[in-house]
Amino acid sequence: MHSCQPPLHNYYRLLGSQRFTSSGDKGKRIVVLGTGWGGFNLAQNLPTDTNLSVIPPSNHFVFTPLLPSTAVGTLEFRAIQECVRSLPSVSNFYQAKAISIDFEEKTILCRDIWDHTDAKPSTFTVPYDSLVPSMGVKTNTFSTPNVSSREGKEVFFLKHLHHARSIRNRTLEMFEIAALPSTSDGEKRRLLSFVIVGGGPKSCEYASELHDFLTRDLATLYPDLLPYVRVTLVEASNHLLGPFESSLRSYVLGLFKSRASKAILSSGESLEFGTMIWSAGLKPVRLTDALSIPKTPAGRILTLSQLL
Ligand SMILES: Cc1cc2nc3c(=O)[nH]c(=O)nc-3n(C[C@H](O)[C@H](O)[C@H](O)COP(=O)(O)OP(=O)(O)OC[C@H]3O[C@@H](n4cnc5c(N)ncnc54)[C@H](O)[C@@H]3O)c2cc1C
Repeated sequence: MHSCQPPLHNYYRLLGSQRFTSSGDKGKRIVVLGTGWGGFNLAQNLPTDTNLSVIPPSNHFVFTPLLPSTAVGTLEFRAIQECVRSLPSVSNFYQAKAISIDFEEKTILCRDIWDHTDAKPSTFTVPYDSLVPSMGVKTNTFSTPNVSSREGKEVFFLKHLHHARSIRNRTLEMFEIAALPSTSDGEKRRLLSFVIVGGGPKSCEYASELHDFLTRDLATLYPDLLPYVRVTLVEASNHLLGPFESSLRSYVLGLFKSRASKAILSSGESLEFGTMIWSAGLKPVRLTDALSIPKTPAGRILTLSQLL
């Protein structure tokens, strides 16, 4: 979130945890949307007698910096997640998505996230006195053809725990199929081609984790397949790790080039792959798009300093 000047206060009351703990706020209905770094941290630090409702589509907080490690099995999934429902401050927990907010009535319309085969998803309304819309952002495909439609098949995002789990399963599946006597050499090359799209920190971390996994673990399990493995990182600009210092950027690029991994920078080459990890950028979630409140040019919610 970006900071801005006081008139924003007229639009919403996003109160910091200090303000919530003051006696004037006791009994007020506080609703937190989302349990990422922002929402979870706030919920975790509120006193136990808070009237707090938490509404996220997933029932856990994820320690995202370690997500790439779980995608290759260095860490177990349970090591990087924390249950939200059991937080002492949480009075009500609804695993659902907020789909609209009525700022006049101070209510949130929510929809459940469960797969109903015969019935429509149920909706319900939650009232609030203070609202914390900490829905974060989602993966941006930039409308690249087939990326969204193939997501979860051979294209994977890396933002949630279920993404990491799918990548881990997919990687092992590719090796097992490639190991079958019926798989041709050309098919082995395709199946064991891993393409990582985006040259940001998340992609570089995952590329490094994947390199270690391939060279340390899979090399002993599938030594005959190693010559078929190729890891390619694709980046639209002419450098990796855009916002970081140039010394770090050059170091990482040099490191990747020295490995079997290949760093492709704007080459226009066409690539066959068995698995693609798409991590090319982020954009606001649908609810943020729908809110008529001040936003940055990139569509993110403007806040005052200290996120008020
Ligand atoms: C793999 C990975 C590695 C990272 N590594 C680092 C790092 O090393 N250092 C660093 O500083 N940052 C890192 N980040 C970025 C960091 O995770 C984000 O900046 C941070 O998660 C943003 O916090 P947030 O609370 O704004 O949103 P998020 O953490 O994205 O949380 C948003 C929450 O809102 C929920 N939500 C979405 N839509 C709705 C809705 N309609 N209704 C209700 N809830 C909703 C989501 O399910 C989620 O629970 C990493 C991110 C990833 C994915």
